[in-house]
Parts: sequence; C-alpha cells; structure tokens
Amino acid sequence: MTTGKLYTISAPSGAGKTSLVKALIEADNNICVSVSHTTRRIRPGEQDGVNYHFCDHAAFEAMLAQHAFLEHAEVFGNHYGTSKHWVQETLAQGKDVILEIDWQGAQQISQLMPETVSVFILPPSQQALRERLTQRGQDDSSVIERRMSEAVSEMSHYAEADFLVINDNFQTALDDLKAIFRCHRLSREQQQRLHPQLLQQLLG
Ligand code: GDP
Ligand code: ADP
Ligand code: 5GP
Repeated sequence: MTTGKLYTISAPSGAGKTSLVKALIEADNNICVSVSHTTRRIRPGEQDGVNYHFCDHAAFEAMLAQHAFLEHAEVFGNHYGTSKHWVQETLAQGKDVILEIDWQGAQQISQLMPETVSVFILPPSQQALRERLTQRGQDDSSVIERRMSEAVSEMSHYAEADFLVINDNFQTALDDLKAIFRCHRLSREQQQRLHPQLLQQLLG
C-alpha cells in the first residue's frame, strides 16, 4: 500500500513558515498540512478549523488524557498539539503530510517516527525577523518582544534538522522547499510504491 511521507517544518515565529507552506500546498494537491489544536487566542483573520482548532484548556487536557495527540508542546505560554488520528488517516491515503510545529514537537516526532524528514526555515537576519513580525501586524508589541527574545534559542535547533531553507527571497525559498519534496518522491523506495506495475513489466 502507498503511504505518504511525514515532514516537520519548524522555524522561529515570523520566519515565513506559514506563508511558505500555504504556497507549497496550493501548488501540489498531494501535500496536506495538519491543523493543530491550540489554546492560543485566535488572531484577526484566522479561522477556527482552518489555521488551528482553537480550544480552551479543559478541551486540550481532555484530548491529552485520551492520548489524541501525536505530539504536543507549550510554546510562548500556549499549548499546541497534533491530532494523531488525522495524521495517520492522511498518510494512509498516500498523501504527504506537513506538521508546522516547534522544535520540541519536531524532536518528539523524530523519536517516534525516525523516517520523518525535518526542515528548518531561517530568516536572512534577526532584523528581518523583527520586521516580519511587526509587519504581519497580528501580535501586540509585548507578544512580538517575547517571540524575538526566544528566537535565538529556537533557531539554535536548526542543528537537529535534515534540511535548512533560508527565506530571504520568497520564491527562491519556495523553490527550495519544493525541491525537498520532489527529491523524496524520487527515492527508490517511494518510486517502488508509486510504480509497482511498471517495474514488474520492465523486468518481465
Ligand atoms: P507563528 O508560527 O508565528 O505563526 O505562530 P503560532 O502561534 O502559529 O505558533 C507558535 C509555535 O507553536 C510555533 O513554533 C509553531 O511551530 C508551534 N506549533 C503550532 N502548532 C503546534 C503543534 O501542534 N505542536 C507543536 N509542538 N507546536 C506547534
Ligand atoms: P511564521 O508562520 O513563520 O510565523 P509567516 O508566514 O506568518 O511566518 O510570515 C511572517 C510575515 O513575514 C508575514 O507577514 C509574511 O507575509 C512575511 N514574509 C514571509 N516570507 C517573506 C519573505 N521572503 N520576504 C518578506 N516577507 C516575508
Ligand atoms: P502561532 O501561534 O504564531 O501560530 O505559532 C507559534 C508557534 O507554534 C510556531 O512556531 C508554530 O510552528 C508552533 N506550532 C503550531 N502548531 C503546533 C503543533 O501542533 N505542535 C507544535 N509542537 N508546535 C506547533
């Protein structure tokens, strides 16, 4: 049976992870992104069930107790978790699945599923990161300061990733990200799953 491949994409807040992933999945309908559960407050423009499943602490705790999360972590004082059921179902349909999660979550996933491909997105400078967080205009200045003060320690976890993408020029970074997915689809293992009949016929 064809199963999809699991990817984690991590980055300091504001590096462009959400924008890049959105552009990637619009260009390739075999890639899906997991919608996390979070206790964070909804931002203007965000939609429940699209950007996140927004929930209160009690609902999050109930899901934890039911072992509903593949991984979960506390980031900037809020709780975030990935639905185990959705990820397993989607991979079983043969789709590639992206988890847009922090480094703590990426560590948990790589221990649990070592075949996962991990990608880390970096900004071209600390100054650019601050400008992007400010320009996004969705977090107040105290939230931006907190995210900036944690950015360096978050970025130090680039060393655990399989691939690094520097998001300076957006289109170049998107092409780099696409290349990572394309390269993995061309692996012998994946090609054997995608083309069993051809391989059999060629040797017949
Ligand atoms: P943004 O990345 O700046 O847009 O900020 P968010 O509030 O969307 O995400 C905050 C942090 O939580 C980021 O580091 C995300 O990667 C992380 N995060 C989001 N969802 C999850 C999740 O389901 N699990 C884990 N472990 N981290 C998550
Ligand atoms: P993250 O999900 O990593 O927090 P976002 O995707 O929300 O980051 O991007 C943060 C802000 O930076 C957004 O306003 C986005 O439009 C902008 N941005 C993303 N990539 C680039 C880039 N290469 N150049 C300039 N601005 C960018
Ligand atoms: P934001 O609240 O700005 O959308 O996200 C903040 C951070 O939380 C980002 O770094 C994002 O990747 C991370 N995050 C979002 N969802 C999850 C998740 O399900 N698990 C983990 N571990 N991190 C997540």
